[in-house]
Amino acid sequence: MSLLVTGSIAIDTVKTPHGISENCIGGSAVYFSMAASFFCPVRLVGAVGADCPFDFAKVFAGRNVDLTGLEVRENSKTFRWVGSYAENMDSRTTDYIELNVLAEEPPAVPVKFSDSKFVFLANTAPNLQLKLLNQIDKPVFVAADTMDFWIEGQPEDVKTLLKKINCLVINEDEARLLAKEHDLIKAAEKILDMGTDVVIIKKGESGSVMCNAEGDKFILPAYPAAEVRDPTGAGDSFAGGFMGYLAQTGKTEFASLKAAVAYGTVVASFTIADFSLNGLIAIDKTDIDDRFETLRKCTSF
Ligand code: AMP
Repeated sequence: MSLLVTGSIAIDTVKTPHGISENCIGGSAVYFSMAASFFCPVRLVGAVGADCPFDFAKVFAGRNVDLTGLEVRENSKTFRWVGSYAENMDSRTTDYIELNVLAEEPPAVPVKFSDSKFVFLANTAPNLQLKLLNQIDKPVFVAADTMDFWIEGQPEDVKTLLKKINCLVINEDEARLLAKEHDLIKAAEKILDMGTDVVIIKKGESGSVMCNAEGDKFILPAYPAAEVRDPTGAGDSFAGGFMGYLAQTGKTEFASLKAAVAYGTVVASFTIADFSLNGLIAIDKTDIDDRFETLRKCTSF
């Protein structure tokens, strides 16, 4: 089934203990699209400014990503993000952020995309996520991501968003911040009370936990990856693998959501092996399926 994503398209500068990658391609919608395209066709909706140095047709060449919804704004500038990671790569600091196009009106969803059944509202301003969602006719399954920047800056919009989606994918610190609750299971329950049917809390190298409104729970460790050079985009790649698998199968019951979490986990393990999109560019679907089987063996007893 059709999968649409909207979110940030960024010029990133990332510093990790393994090096620095300056002015590289990034953004939540970009990582998501690359990750999800291993599973199904992806419709990308986003905006950049005239300063954007990337040739997206080349970036996504041969990958079944429809760029009709990519807007280049002549009088705007592209979103910029500068981040750095501490020695253990566990904590990340945003050193600098320039919202630019993200502070403007959202891009229009092309009419031919308005029938999209699976929708991912990747990390961007929640009022933009809401305006974009309003342009989709009858989505079957809508998931969203958000982050501290928006939870603190636009809390009411984040709460409105939660009432309109089926699934929130969020990291553990953000879940605690949103729920105002330290215990993660209690935080998940509080987030479910805010309106979404499913919440997935990502815990970095400790894996993830998924809870739904019926009380079902699923926990999965991270893939035991040996190489970690740059964790940027892990969350968006997780979401891309997760939603890509669901859109490919067209199913959303809990058993499918569990397999989708495993695919998300595996795809993220490739992203973190290198800077920017390089980890995902280096692989094909067979690599993903191999790691999926390894993860299954590692977690069954
Ligand atoms: P992740 O590591 O999966 O959380 O996502 C990293 C990507 O998110 C980077 O490529 C950034 O450009 C992008 N990003 C960082 N801050 C924001 C923000 N406030 N809104 C939207 N995207 C962001």
